[in-house]
Amino acid sequence: MSEFDFIVVGAGSAGCVLANRLTASGRHSVLLLEAGGSDQRFWLKAPIGYGMSFYNPKVNWMYRTEPDPGLGGRQGYWPRGKVLGGSSSINAMVFIRGQQRDFDDWAALGNPGWGWSDVLPYFKKLEDSPHGPSQTRGTGGPLRVSDVSAQVHPLCEAYLRAGEQIGLVRNPDINGASNEGVAINQITTRKGLRASASSAYLRPARRRPNLRVETGALATRLCFDGLRATGVEYLQHGQRHSSRARCEVIVAAGAINTPQLLQLSGVGPAHALAALQLPVVLDSPAVGQHLQDHLCIDYMYRSRVPTLNNELGPWPAKLWAGLKYLATRRGPLALSVNQGGGFCRSREDLAHPDMQLYFSPLSYLRAVPGKRELTAPDAFPGFALSAQPCRPDSRGHLALRSPDPLQPPRIVPNSLATEHDRNAMFAAASLVRRLAATPALQAVIAEELRPGPAVQSHAEVMDDIARRASTVFHPVSTCRMGPDPRQAVVDAQLRVHGLQGLRVIDASVFPTLTSGNTNAPTLMLAEKGADLVLAASRTHAP
Ligand SMILES: Cc1cc2nc3c(=O)[nH]c(=O)nc-3n(C[C@H](O)[C@H](O)[C@H](O)COP(=O)(O)OP(=O)(O)OC[C@H]3O[C@@H](n4cnc5c(N)ncnc54)[C@H](O)[C@@H]3O)c2cc1C
Repeated sequence: MSEFDFIVVGAGSAGCVLANRLTASGRHSVLLLEAGGSDQRFWLKAPIGYGMSFYNPKVNWMYRTEPDPGLGGRQGYWPRGKVLGGSSSINAMVFIRGQQRDFDDWAALGNPGWGWSDVLPYFKKLEDSPHGPSQTRGTGGPLRVSDVSAQVHPLCEAYLRAGEQIGLVRNPDINGASNEGVAINQITTRKGLRASASSAYLRPARRRPNLRVETGALATRLCFDGLRATGVEYLQHGQRHSSRARCEVIVAAGAINTPQLLQLSGVGPAHALAALQLPVVLDSPAVGQHLQDHLCIDYMYRSRVPTLNNELGPWPAKLWAGLKYLATRRGPLALSVNQGGGFCRSREDLAHPDMQLYFSPLSYLRAVPGKRELTAPDAFPGFALSAQPCRPDSRGHLALRSPDPLQPPRIVPNSLATEHDRNAMFAAASLVRRLAATPALQAVIAEELRPGPAVQSHAEVMDDIARRASTVFHPVSTCRMGPDPRQAVVDAQLRVHGLQGLRVIDASVFPTLTSGNTNAPTLMLAEKGADLVLAASRTHAP
């Protein structure tokens, strides 16, 4: 049996950071297990490839949720990266840290060391931003964050002016001192190529002799000696393997697979494990609970002026965009489709922004897997304007369907289960229509296509939300951090309560969902997590 100091399960956003930082000194050996394969694929490198990986089972777990009563009984589609880089290899590349208050809340929930002033140094450390160096932004870090404001579609200007016309500021850096206002989204690209956790963190570390990366390696069970984690069993090319960890096992398999793996290993709600005849190592009731996610409503418009549909739809235009990309690494193929963004307050009496905005200068009907590719925009000029409440308080959960590690878990999002969340979604829809009604956007809107002008009353808008609202792919908190072992899975050092030699370091440990997109906070969490692991290894007290 092979033996390493650390075994990291999952080479996603967090796992790649850990693999790099834990091997940097050369003093520790690390085994990184990834269920997916290589990320050396053109469509994972070209930013527009987002549309190609969205429904590609070779790089995507392609989860479906249980029928969701709050969404009219629809089954949500939840893509997750299954490839080196994990979800950072297939995401929309929007770089958002969240609001300072998000992290101060983490600390206030009993997690010392996670307040804004504690995490800011890690946000600065991870990035190479053209907005830095400054008190709030960093330069020289592994992850390139690009300011693409000079490259986005000209229609974004109408969106920015619309924001100003409803009283929002135009924010030149929504990751700076304030998040508030309308902005052009910063994206994780370097020289027109996707900057994933794999390209930023794993690639530079791959030649280190103390790092072993196994792809196509599905961790099926964590091994324990009493209450101490000692290693991992995994399945690779149909063969069973096991490896021992001298110091620690670190689970970084993401917000869906991490609680699944813990439960498969006997760490979870005892009654649920017993019902599946799984031996219980530790009754940890919060494993798989407290699931949170962002729900978003898109409004689609037919445009009077050309949009990205004109550049990405017809074959000659597509060919031109492709050639331009290959020659210059610029143009629409080098960008995210979520070009405009920002945060705002839906009511003036609120102390902090409660809505995130998205503006995409292209329109397409999002369809269930196999029905229609994201790569096929509508055949006429169109665009999408969307809003997402920042802090939903509905809680879902996740449970094993069977003891078979190859079976996907049952995902129960429980969307819009609270009045707070239903009101927030109605406010989101109203905000979109306020923006659309401004002179700046009225000048370019030919017609509202979705939901359409017939949808006006509160009941009609809520019915449309139930029929069309969808996740923006930010599940978190299924192994959340907190001081109470009955309510949380890990402590503020990210150690699993009640066990030794085992940490969870990924988006599943967020105490609460941050206000915006979750990749940057996950990378930050892993940077800090790596420091915690290394500090413990120096004192031999994992
Ligand atoms: C379609 C999409 C769009 C998104 N857009 C954005 C965006 O624009 N901006 C943003 O900030 N965030 C975005 N996100 C969210 C963001 O990418 C994630 O929150 C973040 O990547 C989560 O990181 P993680 O390390 O927790 O998990 P992941 O990055 O998902 O990594 C988990 C890794 O573990 C592997 N794994 C799982 N189970 C096992 C196992 N049993 N054995 C071995 N390996 C295993 C997986 O294959 C995966 O590689 C998006 C996500 C998706 C899916």
